[in-house]
Formats: sequence, C-alpha cells, structure tokens
Amino acid sequence: MSDELILIVEDNLKSRKLVRDLLQVNGYRTVESETAEEGLRLARESQPDLILMDIQLPGMDGIEALRHLKSYPETGSIPVIAVTASVMTHGRNELLDAGFDDYQRKPLEMKSFMEAVKNLVGKETGAEPTT
Ligand code: MN
Repeated sequence: MSDELILIVEDNLKSRKLVRDLLQVNGYRTVESETAEEGLRLARESQPDLILMDIQLPGMDGIEALRHLKSYPETGSIPVIAVTASVMTHGRNELLDAGFDDYQRKPLEMKSFMEAVKNLVGKETGAEPTT
C-alpha cells in the first residue's frame, strides 16, 4: 500500500468513479476534477504524484491542459497519463509527442492501467519547466 496522491481529471461520472475506486483499492489517495481548468488549479494546490488526464473535456481539452501543466514550475515535472477513447482523432504518437508520459484507452483495461500508474507514480518526468 502507498499513500501517494493522484489527480483524476475526468468529466464522465462513471469513468471517474471507476478510476477512483480502482486507485483507492490499490492504496492511493485521489483528488478529482471534472474540468481541465479546475484540474490545473488542483494540480498546483495539491501537488499530486501523478495526473490522469482525460483528453475530451468540456472547455479546455486535455492536450491544452498538459501544455499549461508543463509551463508551470510547480507542476512541470509531475508525470501525466492521457486517458482517451478518441483513438481516431488522438493517436498514441500524437499524445506522446504532446508530452504525455503514457497513454491509456477507455474502456480501461485494469491490469494495464495499474501497471502504467505504478510505473509513473512519484517519478519526475525530467522535463524542464518551460518557464
Ligand atoms: Mn471526457
């Protein structure tokens, strides 16, 4: 068990609950937002060990949110996993090129998802903040 904090940015209630339950069962603490804008605020405030970023969000999308995260010194080195169902419009390479540390498709495959989380949680990305 661990008590690392993971920020879940996801507008879909069912997806958010699934991810929350899965992470909490595995011993992680969670903080959540339904929008990118709120997620950015929470990331700066709560300094999570990992961020799970839905790509399709109302308002700002997950890719734009990642740019903002990487531009702040306080959040620039937090690893971020993209979570998306939109494989037609956002392919794996596009997401990794955008700067995400990993990528998971919805519906989530639990084993693969938890491996991705364990692999990245608490690790700094090594990316230099752009500011
Ligand atoms: Mn969504």
